[in-house]
Amino acid sequence: MPPKLDINKAGWEQSDFPILCETCLGDNPYIRMTKQEFGKACGTCARPYTVFRWNPGAQSGSRQKSTVVCQTCAKVKNICQTCLLDLEYGLPVQVRDTALGLERSAPTSDINREYYAQNHDGKDQGTEGARKAAGAGKEMLKQLARTDPYYKRNRPHICSFFVKGNCTRGDECPYRHEMPTEGPLAKQSIQDRYHGKSDPVARKILAQHADSQGLKPPDDASITSLFLTSLPASATDTSIRTVAVNSLPFLEPDAIRSVVHVAKTRCAFVNFTTRTSAERAAEAWANGLDVDGERVGVRWGKAKKAAAPKAAAAA
Ligand SMILES: [Zn+2]
Ligand SMILES: [Zn+2]
Ligand SMILES: [Zn+2]
Repeated sequence: MPPKLDINKAGWEQSDFPILCETCLGDNPYIRMTKQEFGKACGTCARPYTVFRWNPGAQSGSRQKSTVVCQTCAKVKNICQTCLLDLEYGLPVQVRDTALGLERSAPTSDINREYYAQNHDGKDQGTEGARKAAGAGKEMLKQLARTDPYYKRNRPHICSFFVKGNCTRGDECPYRHEMPTEGPLAKQSIQDRYHGKSDPVARKILAQHADSQGLKPPDDASITSLFLTSLPASATDTSIRTVAVNSLPFLEPDAIRSVVHVAKTRCAFVNFTTRTSAERAAEAWANGLDVDGERVGVRWGKAKKAAAPKAAAAA
């Protein structure tokens, strides 16, 4: 008799080997994985999937790891099923998508997600995005990429008793005896990390990178403009706006209040409606912006001089 198809399990995922980054896989060549069919609900789509558990490096005192999202969801975003970092760059989804100007929305219905994943097998969003990505965004990812395995991430969790000052296990304690240094960074939700929004780790990486590129947000919070330099002669108000809007898909199109192009000096001001939008844009454009195939410089705008003193000086 042929096996009966269990209609209740239609759409549940079975797999033989997880999609993992090198770090999560670990440095132990004799890795032993346990596999549990429909062992858990996926952390993002909630469908039951095949859960894998293993110890990435028994000798170095690593903790046991397990997959937290299903394979379909991982493929859609080109990420590791365990750490949710991009498989190519080792970076949070939010960092990758900001740099590449990728749309953050992943398919939300099950059917769409399946379809999307099937169509993206082997040509996932990450690489597809990278191919069409403007040079500046790609350059930014290369600078930020963590491509070597980073096994420290596999260490045991910090001992919660030690943090409270009352662990009695001493040297026998399997957890780490050190104080946590990254408070809010530990409070990350799988959903936010997966969808690439409100991810505190990504926020920190992006802000630090913008700082390092000379785009530290000015102290004067009334400044909400970015200044573009060395624009190509072909640039117009419209073409600059189009490039800006397309490279910032995570902002509402009306986040850009206006574009003021000064053709004579090949400069332009991009004025944002809010300071937050301007900061997100500065992070996305940390390595410059590509307009009509040319790399354009990005700087923060200067504070508007109050009109009154000027009039007074003229008088
Ligand atoms: Zn899933
Ligand atoms: Zn991983
Ligand atoms: Zn302890």
